[in-house]
Amino acid sequence: MDDCIFCQIVDGDIPSRTVYEDEDVFAFLDVNPLAPGHTLVIPKGHYETLGDVPGDLGADVLTAVHRLVPVVEDAVDADGSTVAFNNGEAAGQEVPHVHCHIVPRFEGDGHGPIHALFGGPGEMDDDELDAIADRISDAAN
Ligand code: 5GP
Ligand code: ZN
Repeated sequence: MDDCIFCQIVDGDIPSRTVYEDEDVFAFLDVNPLAPGHTLVIPKGHYETLGDVPGDLGADVLTAVHRLVPVVEDAVDADGSTVAFNNGEAAGQEVPHVHCHIVPRFEGDGHGPIHALFGGPGEMDDDELDAIADRISDAAN
């Protein structure tokens, strides 16, 4: 995709602080880091959201995330990390090339868990939860 900023980074047309690369996956430091070491992991191919990514490539991206998380944490002496996809515009995704954020976390950094995004659990009764679980398991298995 010519006008995709992350495709241009993969192609070397826009510089980045590249931290990992293999045949299908690319990782680089976020230009506006939320914390020291904030890293983005992307498939080299252009796909907008996780659901668009072919299964094998999704596995490759997760394999790279699995490899990078401890390495990134060690590099900045972090105590943990928040690992997340803003998956789709409704979830706040701004760059329409799927990417996994690895954001190092530090004891007492005060940012809270991803639950803090929602301000607490929503109200759902057992029938609704059962119906949702059935729909997901019917499609996933
Ligand atoms: P999103 O909101 O789409 O999940 O996150 C996009 C991320 O990409 C943001 O954290 C932003 O700082 C980062 N970003 C946007 N443009 C560039 C760029 O040109 N280079 C790098 N390294 N990161 C970028
Ligand atoms: Zn792209």
